[in-house]
Amino acid sequence: MLEKKMWIGGEWVDAISGQTFTTKDVTTGETLGSVPLADKADVDKAVAAARAAYPIWSAKTGNQRSEILAKIGDAIKKHGDDITRYNAIEHGLPKHLAFGPDVMGASGNFTQAAAYARHLVGSYIPSNPDRMYMLERIPAGVCALITPWNLPFFLMVQKVALSLAAGCTSVLKVPSINALTSIKFAEILAEIEELPKGAVNIITGPGTTVGTYMASHPGIDCVGFTGSSETGIEIMKAAAPTLKKLVMELGGKNPAIIFPDANLDRAVDVLGHHQFFNCGQACGSPGRYYIHESVYDEFLEKYLAYAKHEKVGNPLDPDIDMGPLVSEEHFNKVMGYIESGKAEGATLLLGGERLTGPGYDNGYFIPPTVFTDVTPNMKIYTDEIFGPVAVMMKWSDEDEVMRLATDNSYGLTASIWSKNIAHALKLGKQFTVGTFSVNQHNFIAAEAPWGGLKQSGVGGREGGYQGVLEFTVQRMITICLDE
Ligand code: NAD
Repeated sequence: MLEKKMWIGGEWVDAISGQTFTTKDVTTGETLGSVPLADKADVDKAVAAARAAYPIWSAKTGNQRSEILAKIGDAIKKHGDDITRYNAIEHGLPKHLAFGPDVMGASGNFTQAAAYARHLVGSYIPSNPDRMYMLERIPAGVCALITPWNLPFFLMVQKVALSLAAGCTSVLKVPSINALTSIKFAEILAEIEELPKGAVNIITGPGTTVGTYMASHPGIDCVGFTGSSETGIEIMKAAAPTLKKLVMELGGKNPAIIFPDANLDRAVDVLGHHQFFNCGQACGSPGRYYIHESVYDEFLEKYLAYAKHEKVGNPLDPDIDMGPLVSEEHFNKVMGYIESGKAEGATLLLGGERLTGPGYDNGYFIPPTVFTDVTPNMKIYTDEIFGPVAVMMKWSDEDEVMRLATDNSYGLTASIWSKNIAHALKLGKQFTVGTFSVNQHNFIAAEAPWGGLKQSGVGGREGGYQGVLEFTVQRMITICLDE
């Protein structure tokens, strides 16, 4: 069994209490290793280390930071095999599918952030000939970074890359389920001698104690959070007394509207991929399908064929498309939604039962699941399920479908599928979402700003140049030219 430590102030440390907890292989149920169970005292220590490193890291020029970030990007690629393996066993994403987002994507975040670190330019305001007014970008300070268990490596790396590029130092906490994955990241950072000790500190412990305390800590200036909207609210409350800057990426329930003239094969391929990738445990996965009545049967037939083709099994097997759900707790949540869909009168067309038998009994496997005859009062229609569950509705009236599709407290993404692109774009103006797509579903890349509106996000964008700017604040400089 692996016994790992936390990384604080550039050193490998146990929790001050000496307590630990273990993580499990999500497929076999076997214990993988133990990590320290951090508490408030460990947060204090990590915040102190990040504060001590802040003057050193923030004083580096953009070019100096850039060179160090590029090195981290290269180191991530070198450790690609371990990263995808940890991800598969602790989280359940098939190893061969994890390589793209978790190795190339995570490494790309650092190389892209390295480029942006050189480009944190300000502006000049020509207001008065006898005065100079300049606006500069400075780091947001010491950050608490709190990340979720889905795509754990990519999501934690992204926040660290963006905040380091901006000149911030940080304390990072990932969910307990992925503790070994986060320690793997610490091991990679520890190889980079040029990164000042304490610039990034990685702690392992529960969100409700450690995470809340980080969000409320007076030594923290900015909180970068990705997770559920419910936890986002708790973090906002915890951060309120000290009025911290917040950068939050939250949940989604993303509508996809299929028009009669859509390329159905493409729509099924793209939406089916996003629905079942990572077992549907993705903020951007399609949450509600609205299919025009004239193509409803044809779309469903193709969609079911796609869903039945998905192979569910051990995420270390290269032929597998979907692994298990991440935990018993999350499995119960998803099954609860499936049961509620059945009880509320939706038709279960496919899946909906836990898989059992050899290879399945020790993990929580749910196959692709498809509901039809869904109505807007049902929980599977209103709530984010975060599982491999597709929710289908038929539409006939354009005004009505737009009213339904825009009527949700979330605002992460939306898509319209039609060959009439001008019309789709015109309708798309009605969506208050972070990403609107036509014949496409989302765009997540190191160079692309990603984020949500309404209850799907606060504070802007993650990724791209915009994502680095989120970890900066602006300062005005004024100079009088008179003697
Ligand atoms: P979660 O909100 O339960 O947990 C996220 C993190 O917050 C974890 O590290 C957890 O330990 C910590 N945490 C829990 N309670 C806390 C508290 N009271 N104070 C501080 N920290 C606390 O989310 P999850 O279940 O890990 O992830 C799934 C959610 O994340 C989904 O809603 C999904 O849509 C969202 N998500 C959003 C994006 C995006 O970019 N918008 C990306 C990935 C996931």
